[in-house]
Amino acid sequence: MEMVMMTMMKNLEAEIKLEKLLLPNIQDYHLIDVYEKHGGYQALKKTLSLSTDDVINEIKKSNLRGRGGACFPTGLKWSFMPKSNSKPKYLAVNGDESEPGTFKDRYLFEFNPHLIIEGILIGCYAMGITTAYVYIRGEYEKWIKMFQKAVDDAYSKNYIGKNILGTNFSTNIFIHKGAGAYICGEESALMNSIEGDRGYPRVKPPFPAQIGLWGCPTTVNNIETMANIPLIINNGSEWYSKIGAQKHPGPILVGISGHVNKPGVYEVPTGILLTDLIYNYAGGVLGNKKIKALIPGGLSTMILRGDSIEGVSMDAESLKAAGSSVGTAGLIVMDEETDLIKVITRITKFYHHESCGQCTPCREGTGWMEKMLHRFENYNARPEDIDLLLDVANNIEGNTICALGDAAAWPVQSMIKRFREEFEKRVTDKVVVN
Ligand code: SF4
Repeated sequence: MEMVMMTMMKNLEAEIKLEKLLLPNIQDYHLIDVYEKHGGYQALKKTLSLSTDDVINEIKKSNLRGRGGACFPTGLKWSFMPKSNSKPKYLAVNGDESEPGTFKDRYLFEFNPHLIIEGILIGCYAMGITTAYVYIRGEYEKWIKMFQKAVDDAYSKNYIGKNILGTNFSTNIFIHKGAGAYICGEESALMNSIEGDRGYPRVKPPFPAQIGLWGCPTTVNNIETMANIPLIINNGSEWYSKIGAQKHPGPILVGISGHVNKPGVYEVPTGILLTDLIYNYAGGVLGNKKIKALIPGGLSTMILRGDSIEGVSMDAESLKAAGSSVGTAGLIVMDEETDLIKVITRITKFYHHESCGQCTPCREGTGWMEKMLHRFENYNARPEDIDLLLDVANNIEGNTICALGDAAAWPVQSMIKRFREEFEKRVTDKVVVN
């Protein structure tokens, strides 16, 4: 144990020395003059002297993977956009951030909005896009205002608009305010919402790069993904690819919540141990209790047992091997006294409420799971309900239009797989009525 702690402390020293790239400790960095004074918009200027292919290749070589949940390679996604300009092309930037346990994008909106804008402009240039929409959840009123101010300031200095910095490149950035539906964080529902329709996910294929906003080619990227772009252009793909985990490199914003002493958003390199994040960055578990369970990447990732996280790190490969995923890097820690049946019932209630209702397995299955889980919660479930619950979850997974169905099934499946004894205890224990 001592050895493990020493290694963790060494790792921590290395992390602390690492310069903060996404959230630098610079006063008033959100102001355009301060941002420019520290090298802001130099990546855009450099980009304007490169060919669009060079920019996309640089992003490909960096191995940057999307920070919105799917970890898809960003450069590859950009290369799917058609070269022809026969139709308008769009960029939709996802700042809906409705995933429970996830609260990182608001830090970027507040403390480094120009890094996002610069990333968007570089993306637009590389893909031949002239209009970008930044979709921000409606509840983020404060951050919408802050981001709008940053956009206005960038317009006033001709970083956005017509003939940017005297070149032939022109683009506009519009902010679109969400109306409170979780499903609008799903890329195709987000596009419907921008178009003014109900936030219904679309059947794929066709994918957005072929048929996206208003039937035109569209790329959808996360806010944090865009914030990584200027770092790559300024410092080179080779430099970037050496930060953190080899196959999933770069800085990452991890939101830590639940039973920890110091919940918050921490900027770390990918590949950092989950134990480092919990015990060093977040100050350990409240009351020095043991960890019973944790959700590594926002509510829709598989739940892990607390005694299975030694050696597991925050990157796609390590978390996949551990039986979960990075998702949005929203780490939720639950201590040994947590009632996991209550937790999974609440999670399932959320997905049932947020289901858009288009597909039967999701619409009916999430409600059915919630009903069964209330039986467990109230100690009146039957022994066969455990496998019935698992069967319903298995029949939702992979049988729906969008990933909300999978997101609802995975927590239930992983909870039964890793904490079956909690369900069994609920069946055998009697309710004590005083
Ligand atoms: Fe709607 Fe659920 Fe189907 Fe997604 S999986 S389209 S949220 S019903």
